[in-house]
Amino acid sequence: MTTLADLTLTDEQAMLVSMVREFAQKELLPQAVAIDREARFPRETFQKLAELGLLGLPIPEEFEGAGCDTVTTIMVIEELARCCGSTALGVAAHTSLVTAPIFMFGNDEQRRKYVPDLASGRKLGAFGLTEPNAGSDAGGTQTTAVRDGDDWILNGAKIFITNANYADTFIATAVTDASLPAKGGITSFILERGTAGFSINKGDEKLGMRGSDWGELHFQECRVPSSQVLGEVGQGFTNFMVTLDGGRVGIAALATGLAVGAYDLSVAYAQERQAFGKPIAAKQAIAFKLADMAVGIEAARLLVRNAAERRDAGKPYSREAAIAKLFASEMAMDVTSDAIQIHGGYGFTTEYHVERMYRDAKLCTIGEGTSEVQRIVISRDILNDSD
Ligand SMILES: Cc1cc2nc3c(=O)[nH]c(=O)nc-3n(C[C@H](O)[C@H](O)[C@H](O)COP(=O)(O)OP(=O)(O)OC[C@H]3O[C@@H](n4cnc5c(N)ncnc54)[C@H](O)[C@@H]3O)c2cc1C
Repeated sequence: MTTLADLTLTDEQAMLVSMVREFAQKELLPQAVAIDREARFPRETFQKLAELGLLGLPIPEEFEGAGCDTVTTIMVIEELARCCGSTALGVAAHTSLVTAPIFMFGNDEQRRKYVPDLASGRKLGAFGLTEPNAGSDAGGTQTTAVRDGDDWILNGAKIFITNANYADTFIATAVTDASLPAKGGITSFILERGTAGFSINKGDEKLGMRGSDWGELHFQECRVPSSQVLGEVGQGFTNFMVTLDGGRVGIAALATGLAVGAYDLSVAYAQERQAFGKPIAAKQAIAFKLADMAVGIEAARLLVRNAAERRDAGKPYSREAAIAKLFASEMAMDVTSDAIQIHGGYGFTTEYHVERMYRDAKLCTIGEGTSEVQRIVISRDILNDSD
């Protein structure tokens, strides 16, 4: 049980959080070390998450989602990450990067066709933005889509795509008008597994998030009808910036969850482990580390909640999302590193979870915009504000 203060919750939120906490402890934690070691995507776990209604949290019930607000959604992500970062990442990518944008930007027909299958978890989603030569600089996308009658023909490749090998529904961005800047020149497409000219490769071995799947998407003369354009032609850049704002709040919650997991283990271990005749927690050097961990976690939670509340209130929240993601992911690196230190040599082994959490936390400083990119977003907002 955490010694951290819980944020104020409604009865409904408290029930959901407690259900997810129990599920994560019972189902995710016991397999987290194994799926990390084997780099195995736990498909069966996603089936269970679907049965619990956790794969469409922010989507209205009419579309087979849970109808939750952002504040509730991020609490669930934090709880999942507390036990298994990989599972939380798969859920966050599926929800924030695929289901939510199809719901937000899709037309009626697209919403009806794709959202219920995704929100119910019958199908899994993957979002293809990053390319071999365009990551932070996503406006430098090289994948192209050329109009041919009522169709578009896609050529290019995407890398590091979460859920790629298990997803059925994909969003991918492509340049549709090279004469325009990224804003105006890029379009998002919805793609289905099995489309001719669209293939998926396994990704490379990775440092952390090893139980989360990733892969490469390849488009070779891939023909899709114009009904697969998500939103308007030329709106891709603007739409994925909006999508990433939402995604960043999720990654910030995920980072917070990893830190809470490492903190919980550290508090317990520091009281059990004896050195020089006393529990190591009796040493101020260790107790102060626990204090610093708690401070970082509480601050991150408040920042994440602030961004989520602004989103729910329909207020601008790009800056707050970037602040939350930057702070929470850097905090998670510090907390998980300190957790290993508190565990000493045992922390360096794979059995004690904290080294896995440390490796998983690193993703949070890279995915959905690196820490440097968050600083760009925040400083641009500051400087525009002062104009
Ligand atoms: C586990 C994992 C899962 C992922 N899942 C997905 C996914 O589902 N879909 C998807 O599309 N992508 C995904 N990504 C890709 C991720 O979003 C990119 O790796 C990230 O945006 C960085 O891009 P890059 O790797 O090309 O690095 P680069 O953009 O090449 O950056 C390299 C370094 O340069 C720095 N840098 C770049 N530009 C600037 C600048 N202007 N100022 C200062 N510093 C700068 C960066 O901060 C970084 O430190 C995933 C990545 C990981 C690790």
